[in-house]
Amino acid sequence: MHPLLSKKGFILDVDGVIGRGKKPIKPAISAVKKLIEMEKKVVFVSNNSTRSRRIYTRRFRDYGLEVDEDQMILTTYATAQYIKENYGKMRIFTTGEIGLIEELELAGHEIVDYEEAEMLVVGSNREINFELITKALRMCLSKKPYIATNPDRIFPSEDGPIPGTGMIIGALYWMTGRMPDCICGKPEKVIMLKALEYLGLEAKDVVVVGDQIDVDVIAGKSINAETLLVLSGVTTRDNLENMIKKYGVKPDYVLEDLSKLFD
Ligand SMILES: [Mg+2]
Repeated sequence: MHPLLSKKGFILDVDGVIGRGKKPIKPAISAVKKLIEMEKKVVFVSNNSTRSRRIYTRRFRDYGLEVDEDQMILTTYATAQYIKENYGKMRIFTTGEIGLIEELELAGHEIVDYEEAEMLVVGSNREINFELITKALRMCLSKKPYIATNPDRIFPSEDGPIPGTGMIIGALYWMTGRMPDCICGKPEKVIMLKALEYLGLEAKDVVVVGDQIDVDVIAGKSINAETLLVLSGVTTRDNLENMIKKYGVKPDYVLEDLSKLFD
């Protein structure tokens, strides 16, 4: 039996671990079902900043996996909760899409135009334009709190790399020298602590699984959990050594995909 099967909880990344965009990674889906049968506690943690949990539940259903909305910690949700816990209910200007807006509103925040806003929340937007960046720039210059969903520079989509939330963080930084007061997504701690809170477990009892060293493995290390890198996404057998060297961090375990836990 694989030593990680003695863990009580599994914090699983989504893209590159159990699916690639809309396509499921079938052996990994079966592995998740086995973990659930073994009564392991499972939570999904994703840096996706354009989807709400409601939208994501549908994707999971298409993957052939029935999960509760609560079992999904997306940066959209983690960001909305982080703001509520640390600032209270806020009037927010966001660069984000409908999925982020939905989670912010569900947490009790109000979405307003930048002149009335108390806070800037940056999330990815596939229809970003000059006007939106101008408003974000002005918010950024106003010295009001500035929170970002996730730091991803590039997102690996089905047909190749696309800009991540980093395109907006980077543009604002280049213009103003200002970085967000808090970034909620992996590899930062905010989202990982939310996942632990959901599981009701300590870090020593969980494993963090992902396909990227700079995102998932570092996130796992940030809470002192053991980490499993799977080679079903961004990191491959061919670039593994380079990635370890580049980020100076080594995962505790490496497997071809999640199902190899059961080999
Ligand atoms: Mg991933």
